[in-house]
Amino acid sequence: MAVKYKWFPSPSYTNNSHRVDALILHTTEGATTNDAIKNYLCGPNGVSYHGSVDNQMIDVCYEYVYEDDKSWSCCNFNSSTLNYVFCTPNGASANWSRDYWLNNQRNAMQTMAHVIADQAKQWNVPIVALSSSEVQSGKRGIAQHMNLGSNGCGHSDCGPNFPMDKFIDLVKGGSSQPTSSDAERYAQMGMAITEDPTIVPVPPTAVKLYVGSDPGYLHTQTVKVRVAVRNKDSWAVSNLELTQATELMTVDVSGTRDLVNISSIDPKGSAVGIEWGF
Ligand SMILES: [Zn+2]
Repeated sequence: MAVKYKWFPSPSYTNNSHRVDALILHTTEGATTNDAIKNYLCGPNGVSYHGSVDNQMIDVCYEYVYEDDKSWSCCNFNSSTLNYVFCTPNGASANWSRDYWLNNQRNAMQTMAHVIADQAKQWNVPIVALSSSEVQSGKRGIAQHMNLGSNGCGHSDCGPNFPMDKFIDLVKGGSSQPTSSDAERYAQMGMAITEDPTIVPVPPTAVKLYVGSDPGYLHTQTVKVRVAVRNKDSWAVSNLELTQATELMTVDVSGTRDLVNISSIDPKGSAVGIEWGF
């Protein structure tokens, strides 16, 4: 499974290209699900992360701040880090044991590992655990918020018992799929459309065309696609809106239709996958 990135933009960020030296792990210490923390991070609270994971939604990451922008997560280190948070109850960083993280937070650990692997690949960050002195001196790798010290707001998450060694092993297991680009993701559907417009022949026995895209991965709510199906000299046009809730739609191509024209893909550059149904 590839990580599904769901986009819920936070107002709390600095619109600024920044470098990515370190990938920083946090705990929420309150909200225990993505849906619970989402409401807070999307409100005017002056706190944000690039993304969150919880222990219920396997391979789902809610994203709040575009990776090119600074999240408001760790004070002076916001300008050199990407920040991802585990949804945990209050006291997790102080009280959870190594065994609890390993045995009771498997979904969250695995999902976070896939997210960090995706980002490490995207930003060419080494998959190594950094000590406090290393991350504070700008060495590149993976660390906890607590490693950033007072310049990083002086927080104590994820905690002394967080199993960073095992987490790094999970990250080294790789991203959930070799899917750093949306084009690669939708290539799995059979055909990835990246040229706009694209004209493809309809197989003679096809009755349906499945059209898919992943708006959340593109940090948007909707991907619009115009699908025109030619039947002799007339075209039947469907204007599809693929949303985060509906990432796959179906167009009827039964009958004597012979060509499909896929165009007006908005936002530009979105990868759209298609697959025939017989
Ligand atoms: Zn934190």
